[in-house]
Amino acid sequence: MKPAGFLCKIDKLGRVVIPKPLRSKYDLHTDDTIELFTEPDAIVIKKYAMSCTFCGNSEDLTDFKSKPVCADCLSKLKELNP
Ligand SMILES: [Zn+2]
Repeated sequence: MKPAGFLCKIDKLGRVVIPKPLRSKYDLHTDDTIELFTEPDAIVIKKYAMSCTFCGNSEDLTDFKSKPVCADCLSKLKELNP
């Protein structure tokens, strides 16, 4: 991980403002959903993108029992239960 070049303060409610240049660079907009990941000494923020439950692909998703599944994995599931 490399420094982004910004220092931010956490407010009384625990909020942090992501500087506009970073929001622009990572295509983050008001009301977007972000996902937080943890590393031993860091919290990583990533724009949330729904992805396939099995392979992580984010294109051509179908809802299967309330889980997103891509077309490729869906066809493989169908092969298991012809
Ligand atoms: Zn998949």
